[in-house]
Amino acid sequence: MNRPDDDLLEFAAETPPAAANTAACWKVAIVDDDDDVHRSTELSLANTEILGRPLAFLHARSAAEARALFVGERDIAVILLDVVMETQDAGLLLVDEIRHRFRMQDVRIILRTGQPGYAPELEAIRDYDINDYRNKSELSRTRLYAALTAAIRAYQQIRIVNASRTGLAHIVRGSAELLRSEGLGEFAAGVITQMAGLLGLPPEGLVCARRDAGAPCEVIAAAGRFDHVSRQPLASLQDAGIRATLERALTQRTNVLEPGQGIALYFGSRPGRDLAAYVETGYPADELDPTLLEVFCANVSVCLDNIELVQRLNEYSYFDPLVHLPNRRQLLELLDAHLNEREGRRGVLAVVDIDHFGEINGAFGYHYGDALLKGVAARIVAGCGPAARVARVGSDSFGVFWSAHDADVSCLDGLFSEPLEVEGDSIIVSVTVGVVRLDDVGGDGSEALEDGYLALKRAKQAERGSVARYNRGVSEEIRGRVNLLHNLRGAFGANELFLVFQPQIDLATGRCVGAEALLRWRTGDGAMIPPDRFIPLAERSGLIVSIGEWVLRRACEEAARMARAGHASVRMAVNVSVIQFRDPHFLGRLRAAIEDSGVSPRQIELEITESVAMGEGDRMIELFGRVKAMGLDIAIDDFGTGFSSLSQLQRMNVDRLKIDRAFINDIGGAGKGGDIAGLVCGLGDRLGIELIAEGIEQAEQAGRLQAMGCQLGQGYHFARPMPAEDWRAWLAAHSSGSGAQGGC
Ligand code: C2E
Ligand code: MG
Ligand code: MG
Repeated sequence: MNRPDDDLLEFAAETPPAAANTAACWKVAIVDDDDDVHRSTELSLANTEILGRPLAFLHARSAAEARALFVGERDIAVILLDVVMETQDAGLLLVDEIRHRFRMQDVRIILRTGQPGYAPELEAIRDYDINDYRNKSELSRTRLYAALTAAIRAYQQIRIVNASRTGLAHIVRGSAELLRSEGLGEFAAGVITQMAGLLGLPPEGLVCARRDAGAPCEVIAAAGRFDHVSRQPLASLQDAGIRATLERALTQRTNVLEPGQGIALYFGSRPGRDLAAYVETGYPADELDPTLLEVFCANVSVCLDNIELVQRLNEYSYFDPLVHLPNRRQLLELLDAHLNEREGRRGVLAVVDIDHFGEINGAFGYHYGDALLKGVAARIVAGCGPAARVARVGSDSFGVFWSAHDADVSCLDGLFSEPLEVEGDSIIVSVTVGVVRLDDVGGDGSEALEDGYLALKRAKQAERGSVARYNRGVSEEIRGRVNLLHNLRGAFGANELFLVFQPQIDLATGRCVGAEALLRWRTGDGAMIPPDRFIPLAERSGLIVSIGEWVLRRACEEAARMARAGHASVRMAVNVSVIQFRDPHFLGRLRAAIEDSGVSPRQIELEITESVAMGEGDRMIELFGRVKAMGLDIAIDDFGTGFSSLSQLQRMNVDRLKIDRAFINDIGGAGKGGDIAGLVCGLGDRLGIELIAEGIEQAEQAGRLQAMGCQLGQGYHFARPMPAEDWRAWLAAHSSGSGAQGGC
């Protein structure tokens, strides 16, 4: 090899460096059939560092030897390749193999030839990605150094770009993995795996630590030889160096690279919640672009934020943030899980509702309402003890669940007898409680809670501040009623409602003086539902207003028809519910029904029950006056069961009192019913109000009533209520003859 004069490099020791620590060296392969070239190259570059690393030489003295070398060697940075060896183009052919067979894409190739005239084709230089082509004589030490430096730099950049590319792909894949993790522990373990993957290390010897503002560090995930410190304070880690590295990363909020030891990466997102992960590398990971590590850290921080966000969302969907208790959803899941167990029907559920919470909130503001809720929640939790699971199930109601069958719910009884401290005030809180035993519940958790609410509703109806126990019958009854109401709405639309008529008889003459219109419901399948069942429902739901209007119209039409058939003096009595009376449009509807049917108002009588008529006071007296002014009669139904005062009765100016059926039943029996009927008769006589007895089933009763001074009667003894056709025929048959005495 030539020794050019411009050789500026100092020769170091004659001996070549010891076997290279290849991880920290640049491997340079010399492939040349000239021994001198091997020797001189190595000598001229001995003890030389390029880009901070020494060189390690590999030798092959033919293309064949080189092939054998490349099979086992990886990470060769540069190949100094002789073109002419076994053959004129042995070197060029080897280049093809290096790139395609050995798939060594990163390695830089410098072609050397001893024959100045021989140069490879330009295409070969381009196609085989050849870095340089030099005549051996040209390669002075300096030039060789320069050529190698350029090649190694290129090699390093290619490696960094490739590492970054795979690293980025890894980060993107890793983010998806990390985001799937549940909870911080799993996330931290994922960070270890991802970080090791990025650095090309096995996932071990890693520690992940967290610091809550000011608190000591805690290891939240660890793998490999650090496994034993998982979930321990960082202080329990033996290795002081690693502890210091992690502490530094956390306090300085930065990545710390300890050459020859390891890397601590810092993942922060918001103050008070910092993560740092430590990986042992043993060598500086200088092929990894530092910005890539930053991207990784930023990405982990974003994932961490997301994990926390998801955690918080989860918390919100299962926790009530105001009172810090499980919410309705969590209680339902708890109940469902419990009910699905073999012995799951055991247990008790209570629904505790704060009385008048809306008013308290309205009067004192939401802030005060919130404080009250917190106070009530704390009282329930403390009072019911650890065996009870308490949840907030509504705005002002709490569910308390005991899984034991024999749970003692008496703790609820006096829970609020002591005042509660709310915002410095000492106030008395009243709660109402509905209690349900789970073996009384047919379905799942939501049904159990529903039943608890039903029991609560009953308790509220009975008395606020009380505790109502639930039993299966109650719930079924209430559900049955809800169903019935639903069906009734349909029935009204489907013409399943109709009227029957029951004659009213003059007891003295036996002549028919009127009829009471009574509502009937025959369902689609032919079943008859008694009015005692569906009318209270219709009243409670308000449906009675439209049903009642229909009854009025239908009864007026029938009465008009009776008049046209020659029975203008026969009255039609129509039952009117108090809800109808309270309807501001009642008089208008009444007037319209009369006008539309063409009936004389004198032919119509309105029946209203005694308790209702008396309970409404002066308003009712005024309304009665207006009804009577229109020309209609008014009768007080079920008389004797209410608490009429004599003066009120006088002021009401009603036309008739209907003695309740219960008192008629007793006539002739041992009870006091007969006496009461007598008293009512005396009252009517004194006030000048006509009397009608309902529910007369025997001739004897009719006779006794007549003797007591009762003028009119109605009951099965005379006739049962009958459909319109039958009624018309009955009336025709009984108006010509001697009357209806015992005639049905
Ligand atoms: P009410 O107005 O006191 O009607 C009298 C009830 O006694 C009727 O029962 C009738 O069928 C029954 N009855 C008549 N004679 C006898 C008898 O000799 N023995 C027995 N055991 N019972 C007799 P119904 O039709 O079942 O009606 C029950 C209640 O339903 C009525 O009591 C009334 O309060 C209400 N109601 C019926 N139709 C209507 C209506 O159109 N509107 C309103 N608001 N309420 C109605
Ligand atoms: Mg009636
Ligand atoms: Mg009655």
